[in-house]
Amino acid sequence: MRYQQSREESAEILRRALQLMSPHPAGYHPLSYAVWYEHAADLNPPLTQELDKLRACASMLTDTEICRLHALHIAARDVEMFELAQRELRELIGRTEQDTAAAEGTLQSFTETLAHTTERLAEPDPQSVRTLLKDLLAQASHLQSTLRGLHAQLAKQREEVAGVIERLERAQTEPLRDPLTGLENLAGFRRAFDGQDDPADFSAVVLLAVDIDYFKRINDTHGHVIGDKVLMKVAKILREQLGAEDVAARIGGDEFVVLLRGKALGAAAALAERIRSATQRSLIVHPDGAQFAGEVTLSIGVASGRGDDSLETLRHRADAALYDAKAAGRNRVSVAGEIRTR
Ligand code: GH3
Ligand code: MG
Repeated sequence: MRYQQSREESAEILRRALQLMSPHPAGYHPLSYAVWYEHAADLNPPLTQELDKLRACASMLTDTEICRLHALHIAARDVEMFELAQRELRELIGRTEQDTAAAEGTLQSFTETLAHTTERLAEPDPQSVRTLLKDLLAQASHLQSTLRGLHAQLAKQREEVAGVIERLERAQTEPLRDPLTGLENLAGFRRAFDGQDDPADFSAVVLLAVDIDYFKRINDTHGHVIGDKVLMKVAKILREQLGAEDVAARIGGDEFVVLLRGKALGAAAALAERIRSATQRSLIVHPDGAQFAGEVTLSIGVASGRGDDSLETLRHRADAALYDAKAAGRNRVSVAGEIRTR
């Protein structure tokens, strides 16, 4: 369980959590408890980081905001951990079943030998008793070595279960999502990659390296709050344009990566072009209502995977294509190893 505190410690944490939640308009419901408890107990660094940021600008947390924080920092992590554990433990159980079935087979044949021996002992003569005993000893020794093998297998599997538990515990503290946009972060992106049906087969994937053009200038002109809104807008466009199988991540300040599954390079480049053009059409809206159009643009590098790729080699080619798009004037899509589409 994630909550290891004693009864007394948890009572103290709850008292602090109540103090922290009371100034906010959100209700006193279990989602609020979970969010403020994890924060007060210092159990969830990304959640604490976001709460600190929100409190620094005196934001009042409503039910909607609490639900978002809970979904992003608590529920999403639990679902991902659960799915991972389920997959790994299912594999382990499958192997244990196979090993025990093999041991059962050996035990059954030993039992049959014993039954057969009992019949043959009805009319014993010294020679046949000697042969029977030799057979029995050979079978018993085979059974013993099978059981020894099973014992060793079980010990190994116990270690593997301990490994799964350790990884789960690590995953509890390792953030997988970017708190600002709700997209995966680099760790979450790597995990999505590892979770592919055949992680070694890169030939069925295309990677997009996406970067906002002159983002520093947007921050300088309109301020960081608007800059953050631009990042959220780009994330929204990515979510709208991508399919359920695809994965988008924010891996740095204004850098995003997208993993496309089962798409040909041409279709992927066309999708990148749609993302680019939707972004160019998006507006920057100031709190006073002033609107600025055409200031947010993207450069996108597209690279298709090869059988012998690793995530690093594929990213390297997508980054090189992105660099090419920047060098050619920005606000464009560039495909690795090909002429630009725009
Ligand atoms: P280029 O067209 O070459 O990509 O130029 P650029 O200005 O987009 O690139 P640069 O790397 O110089 O600037 C990125 C800026 O992103 C600098 C940094 O202040 C800003 N940044 C990083 N993280 C955040 C964030 O979370 N919010 C906001 N608002 N700005 C951020
Ligand atoms: Mg940039």
